[in-house]
Amino acid sequence: HLSLLRKLKGKPTETKSGQRVHLYANISRPSDAAAVLANDAEGIGLFRSEFLYLEREDWPTEEFQFDAYGQVAQEMGDRPVIIRTLDIGADKQVDYFNLSHEDNPALGYRAIRICLTRPEIFKVQLRALLRASAYGNIAIMLPMITSVQEVRDAKRILEEAKSELRGERIDFNESIQIGVMIETPASVIMADELAAEVDFFSIGTNDLTQYTLACDRQNPSLERFADPHSPAVLRMIQMTIEAAHRHGIWCGICGELGADLSLTDTFLRLGIDELSVSPTSVLPLRNVIRNH
Ligand code: PEP
Ligand code: MG
Repeated sequence: HLSLLRKLKGKPTETKSGQRVHLYANISRPSDAAAVLANDAEGIGLFRSEFLYLEREDWPTEEFQFDAYGQVAQEMGDRPVIIRTLDIGADKQVDYFNLSHEDNPALGYRAIRICLTRPEIFKVQLRALLRASAYGNIAIMLPMITSVQEVRDAKRILEEAKSELRGERIDFNESIQIGVMIETPASVIMADELAAEVDFFSIGTNDLTQYTLACDRQNPSLERFADPHSPAVLRMIQMTIEAAHRHGIWCGICGELGADLSLTDTFLRLGIDELSVSPTSVLPLRNVIRNH
């Protein structure tokens, strides 16, 4: 690892023929930013903000969230920090949300669905994200999107948060970028329409595999059927990248598959713009891309 670091630190992530890929890292808590920098990732492609909710007894306040996001943004300087809005429900349960029991939680009341039906909760997070955007290069990413309407509803709440802050004379980045996770088959099928609404796509291959192949991602006995190398999943990825590029926006992958070195060639051939992987996978992936 140390020799990879010595060899690759500060080097661009590009193939021998000059194809450039943005190589970012995934984090779950602000303290992980140190590992992102130590492994020389070019930014944070997925900050799973739900951990700010999971590791507490009660609602995280706007101030608490502002501190967390602002700290990461500041630490990363001008490197992009893509923060995913609350993605709880399904495998991630939080007591104080008082969610009722569901027979099919993966198909249930989760993530953006909670945020859009309880905008007062969503607004706290959006205000904290906007305020933190004055301190670095923050972008907002929406999880579990299945329709254009959901994106428009989320953007409307974001606009409300912006106008509140303007009224309070609090600084934020007026042109903050907003993207969606592509992790449901519906979002792939609607990718052209979604691309017209946002600045970027990031493919969540963990959920996209689960929902495309109808295989619970938590059930180990499905391993043989839940193959993310399935042509069905790869074709979904191809369709998403093509739709993004038709509309002039970038498309990345932030699910586990992004770090699968046996697929790096395929992703490069499909024209992937960004890969976001765990901090320890950054340099091995840069090495493979630079040797391509
Ligand atoms: C995904 O679904 O691929 C993803 C990146 O998000 P999570 O694993 O947190 O659901
Ligand atoms: Mg997901």
